[in-house]
Amino acid sequence: MNTEFSSKAVLEAIRSVVQSDNTTISLHEPKLAGNEWTYVKECLDSGWVSSVGKFVDRFEDDLAAYTGAKRAIAVVNGTAALHICLILSGVVPGDEVLIPALTFIATANAVSYCGAVPHFIDSEEKTLGVDPGKLAAYLEDIAEQRQDGCYNRITGRRIKTLVPMHTFGHPLDIEPLIKICADFRIELVEDAAESFGSFYKGRHTGTFGRLAALSFNGNKIMTTGGGGAILTDDEELGRMAKHLTTTAKIPHRWEFNHDMIGYNYRLPNINAALGCAQLEQLSAFLDNKRALAGRYAQAFSEVPGVRFVREPEYCRSNYWLNAIILDEDFRNMRDEILEVTNSAGIMTRPAWTLMHRLPMFTDCPHMNLTISKSLVRRLVNIPSSAGLV
Ligand SMILES: *Cc1c(COP(=O)(O)O)cnc(C)c1O
Repeated sequence: MNTEFSSKAVLEAIRSVVQSDNTTISLHEPKLAGNEWTYVKECLDSGWVSSVGKFVDRFEDDLAAYTGAKRAIAVVNGTAALHICLILSGVVPGDEVLIPALTFIATANAVSYCGAVPHFIDSEEKTLGVDPGKLAAYLEDIAEQRQDGCYNRITGRRIKTLVPMHTFGHPLDIEPLIKICADFRIELVEDAAESFGSFYKGRHTGTFGRLAALSFNGNKIMTTGGGGAILTDDEELGRMAKHLTTTAKIPHRWEFNHDMIGYNYRLPNINAALGCAQLEQLSAFLDNKRALAGRYAQAFSEVPGVRFVREPEYCRSNYWLNAIILDEDFRNMRDEILEVTNSAGIMTRPAWTLMHRLPMFTDCPHMNLTISKSLVRRLVNIPSSAGLV
């Protein structure tokens, strides 16, 4: 047992869990061990590979049933899902949208696609998601209510929507955010791209906001190759989401009429076929990931100076992507850990570069980001494939 912190101790802890046989261990690999072949073959045999087909309908119904959302609309990827969620939440060009600085680029890109300005907010150490207390205090400071919503007194722009993100699959503290959004008249859209299969107080993430985006990219907990979905409990928004993502075509037996500028964002049937097969295996993936996380937690409990990220209280996380966080005392060790593990064939990665540091977003407004900055310095993602156990 190691009694002192060292990058070697971190490497050994990971090795004790993933049992390296000298092949490279990737950060996250999909597992395609179910009915994928059968369902995709069915698409090929029937010719229904593209934008309509029975797997799209089935996938949407299955997603709604699993998450408890009234409607699920399958789309080409999670970024497209976020784009449509933002439009439907009422974001128009010139608005500001509050998003965490600690997120994947897709959240900020989707805001930009709307002609809106991302406004970066801080996260909390416990959940790695938006810090409700800090956000409320910040809004007290900068927000001003006008007839058509909440305004940023400093920039003069309307703050239309908040997009919290459930980082690495760990549900953030969503309840206080619902209240903050109601108090300040801000719309709530969840970026649940990483948290499919994660629950907050028994309810699926992505069912708290007016709308939410899921992703089924190749590196997510389950995959459709590329894909995503929009969740909503609002029938009218669900109808609009389907309409907007299918070129806003007015249904007719032969005529081509469109009543607004829509998007070609629908998920092809062949991808939905993969999704149906993956969804059948989701509970097995979740069990494997929980077991893997349990083993990591055990291994890292013996490494001083390192915290293995566990699910927050009241939550059930999908443990999509595991992470360790170094104590402040060892904050300069991150790069050495990345070096030692990757050289040993174990793929590890740092967290994303914070959004306000990227060249296209340096001029965007942001609050004090102390915790996000500290987290990025100290966080390392470690191998998390469901196939590792
Ligand atoms: C994966 C991801 C998305 C969406 O990604 P796509 O690759 O477009 O499906 C959005 N937000 C976050 C935080 C993600 O991790």
